[in-house]
Amino acid sequence: MPSLNEQLLLLVALQDLDTMIREAEDKVHADKLQAMGFPLEGVDDLRRARKELAESIERPLLTRYERILGRLGRAVVPITGDVCLGCFAIIPTSYTSAENRDRILQCENCGRIFYWPRGT
Ligand SMILES: [Zn+2]
Repeated sequence: MPSLNEQLLLLVALQDLDTMIREAEDKVHADKLQAMGFPLEGVDDLRRARKELAESIERPLLTRYERILGRLGRAVVPITGDVCLGCFAIIPTSYTSAENRDRILQCENCGRIFYWPRGT
């Protein structure tokens, strides 16, 4: 069973994939990418990778992620200081204490899920 922290990192990877898929599906953006020489045949591969990744994320967490993503466009944000990078609300200092590193915390203001970037 992966730790919560690993679950969060999977969630971050999932969000990256979702962003890539969304951009590839966006017609205007896709035309621009193609004009710059990026082939777009990879969308099906992206979707397959997305499905596989989603299967290794615990169901309740995945549901929560998808709900926030649908509402706000970006569901997982890194903690890099004392503000939420999603809505710029101040994060309570109790959130950033070391013992919270293995817990899943959400911004009290916008509901986005926080994660600690690797190496911090
Ligand atoms: Zn927020």
